[in-house]
Amino acid sequence: MSSSSVAVESGREAVSKTVPGPILLLGAPGVGKGTQAKELVKLWGIPQISTGDLLRANVAQGTQLGRVAKEIMGRGELVPDSLVNEMVAVRLQQPDTANGYILDGFPRTLPQAGWLDGRLASATQALPVIAVSIQVDYNQLLRRITGRRNCPACQRIYNVYGNPPQKDGFCDVDGTALVQRADDTEQIFAERMRAYGALTAPVVEHYRALGRFAEVDGDRPIAAIAAGIVAAVERLRK
Ligand code: AMP
Repeated sequence: MSSSSVAVESGREAVSKTVPGPILLLGAPGVGKGTQAKELVKLWGIPQISTGDLLRANVAQGTQLGRVAKEIMGRGELVPDSLVNEMVAVRLQQPDTANGYILDGFPRTLPQAGWLDGRLASATQALPVIAVSIQVDYNQLLRRITGRRNCPACQRIYNVYGNPPQKDGFCDVDGTALVQRADDTEQIFAERMRAYGALTAPVVEHYRALGRFAEVDGDRPIAAIAAGIVAAVERLRK
């Protein structure tokens, strides 16, 4: 078995899987980074690190970071790099990141990418990062964002147009009332797309140029997209 492989128990049989290492999920708001990250967590057993989720948790807990982030997020703008980088640094110190992690929504600016690249370059034994960009067209994104509903208990994501719960407004898993994110409105979506085009699109080009990069079509069933990401990561880890 190569150093990048590990035996993993899957049901009754052991299968050989690539150690994923650090994976970046890139793409505009609503492409499905969070949904895909959750699929990959199930497949690989490594954690999802969503900077949006971490920031929302800080807002909910009323931390100093949360108080600063709340208004910025409400406008659809980006939280300052130094604050987000520090938050990610703390999370990456957790031992569950040893075999890899899925960064969802980070890096979103070139300075964040430079910070992450520097950190990985100085880490002993860290595998190089693989970046996967998920592509979905603008009108489809708008539908996904404005139709998105979340379960605050189990974090499951629904869409009133494409993936509705069985009972309108309530989670299929635990019956909790679903919520809509405050920034999932059409007006704030437009601002988030502007921020994406100006600040995050160059990050995609940065990782494309580095080579360990794949693009996947995000306008397909969830399992098909996840299979595409896994195939790309296995190819790029060889
Ligand atoms: P998301 O859940 O990834 O769509 O993020 C929601 C909001 O959190 C964004 O619109 C930003 O205001 C903020 N945010 C999330 N990740 C970052 C990041 N890497 N850098 C700056 N702001 C972020």
